[in-house]
Amino acid sequence: MVRSALLKLSESKSFARWVTSNQITRKMSHRFVAGEALSEAIAATRACNDQGMMVSLDYLGENVTTTADAQRARDSYLKVFDRIAAEKLDANVSCKLTQLGLDLSTEFCEGQVLSIVERAAACQNFLRVDMEGSHYTARTIDIVKRVRSRSPAIGTVIQAYLYRSERDVQDLLAYGCRIRLCKGAYKEPPQVAFPKKQDVDANYVKLMRLLLPSGFYHGIATHDPKMIAATIRCAAEMKIAKQDFEFQMLYGVRTDLQRQLVRDGFRLRIYIPFGQDWFPYFMRRLAERPANLAFFMRNFFR
Ligand SMILES: Cc1cc2nc3c(=O)[nH]c(=O)nc-3n(C[C@H](O)[C@H](O)[C@H](O)COP(=O)(O)OP(=O)(O)OC[C@H]3O[C@@H](n4cnc5c(N)ncnc54)[C@H](O)[C@@H]3O)c2cc1C
Repeated sequence: MVRSALLKLSESKSFARWVTSNQITRKMSHRFVAGEALSEAIAATRACNDQGMMVSLDYLGENVTTTADAQRARDSYLKVFDRIAAEKLDANVSCKLTQLGLDLSTEFCEGQVLSIVERAAACQNFLRVDMEGSHYTARTIDIVKRVRSRSPAIGTVIQAYLYRSERDVQDLLAYGCRIRLCKGAYKEPPQVAFPKKQDVDANYVKLMRLLLPSGFYHGIATHDPKMIAATIRCAAEMKIAKQDFEFQMLYGVRTDLQRQLVRDGFRLRIYIPFGQDWFPYFMRRLAERPANLAFFMRNFFR
């Protein structure tokens, strides 16, 4: 119930205005968000690189309502790629299609993605298209497949909670597409997604076992020690080398486990979000773990 309420609140514009203008909640957002400026995200990236972790930088934003905002987001991503190259960082970029205008027009959005992927390719880098609510899944996959047929510098995300994901994995692998596997962070009805955690976890393991031996380099994104242990067991069983896949985790989540994986010689990428539009991202992180909400409430009232 708490999860559903928080995910519902994440869509409220008036609550967003209150939370993002409040000094205390702004400060608390730093638990999951590197900062509002690119320079803060770059500093966090360097700190991760110094600890042997790769990074994916996400310029926060979603569901833009004007082409001007979508174009501004595209320009910001072009700058992020240039900055990564100039600073010689070990980082790629993650973006959301609704930030690049998917709600306005599929063709317009695809053109925007293509121009970012061209910049990524010119910088010998990579763009990961995050997966949003199930309303966008089919269009996101179609755009990624079309852009992937023009440049390999793009990949996307599959959410284990969706029933359709096994088919999507097979489809994307046929295009040689690199996939990030996660459980899924949005509020979905039982018609499209497994309602029970144990079924999501079972599907996660099933999909991970399809990805690892596929011959392409994928990202296993989770903080769940059971999913991580299953991946390590699967890699050993299928004789897949540690450098042939990577684990991925979110900035500020399970830093103990992050350090442990690096110590054990696994490749690990940290997803670092930055920017002013941090409210929906922050709410999804609270929704994932009720203890986070209690922690923030305690600090807020203190
Ligand atoms: C790199 C990365 C990229 C992602 N990209 C997407 C995407 O594109 N689309 C999408 O829908 N979802 C995305 N997600 C979110 C994902 O779908 C899950 O919602 C999130 O990772 C929690 O699931 P879990 O696998 O960690 O397992 P869970 O079973 O949810 O959690 C396992 C354990 O991890 C810890 N944990 C998990 N979340 C938190 C948290 N917020 N705060 C503190 N501890 C926590 C807790 O100890 C928990 O017991 C991404 C996640 C990662 C790591």
